[in-house]
Order: sequence, then C-alpha cells, then structure tokens
Amino acid sequence: MSNRRRPARGNPYRTEFLTSVAWHTRRARWFRREAALQRPLRCAACGTGATPAELELHHRSYAGVLYQDGVWRAFERHVDLTPLHPYCHELLHRLLERDTVLARHRDRKAASDHALIRLHTALTRERP
Ligand SMILES: [Zn+2]
Ligand SMILES: [Zn+2]
Repeated sequence: MSNRRRPARGNPYRTEFLTSVAWHTRRARWFRREAALQRPLRCAACGTGATPAELELHHRSYAGVLYQDGVWRAFERHVDLTPLHPYCHELLHRLLERDTVLARHRDRKAASDHALIRLHTALTRERP
C-alpha cells in the first residue's frame, strides 16, 4: 500500500468516482454541514478563506468510497474530508508522493495529517 496517486487513465477513482452523482452529493452535504456548524470556510493548507466553489475536498481515507452493484457510493466520514484549494491540494499530494516515509506510510490518515501540517507551516510562515 502506498499513498501514491495512480495515473488518471485506468483509475476509476479519478475518472469515475470524482465525477459521480454520489460524490457531488456527498461534497455538497459536507459544505452544508460546515455551514450549519458555522465554521468559517478556509483552505486547510494555506488558511485563506474560500467559497465551496473554490475548494476541493481531500480524502484522508478512501474507506467510504465504495463501488457496489455498478454504482459509486460516497460514505466518507465528515472528518475524513479536508477542504483545499486545487493548487494547495496538488502540493499536498506532491508531498505525500515524494516523501519516501510518507509515501510508504501504512496509515493514510496519519501520512495525510503529517503532510498537511508540514504544508500549512510552509505556506503560513511569516516572512520578515
Ligand atoms: Zn490553499
Ligand atoms: Zn487529495
């Protein structure tokens, strides 16, 4: 097991799940819940405020991503989805893929959290 993103071609997660009705519905529900909790919406990496349209949701775990009876299902736990700008999301995946320890980490959530802390620190560090 590794945290590497497989290439888009031949990867049903990227070519099918991310464009499925189930994921779009799940994604909308995630943002509604955040709004109901009255949490200010911001990118978890750079900390900048953003709108749902400006954010992607990163999967800390793919446990809820299921393909059953020919249909995709999105049963992710709320805490396992993390809002990120597309650019910041890409940086997070680069960190996850290129760091030899994180890429081979057996626990995707832990690897993801480590990478996010590192990225957040790098992006929000105050410069003199
Ligand atoms: Zn960001
Ligand atoms: Zn991601």
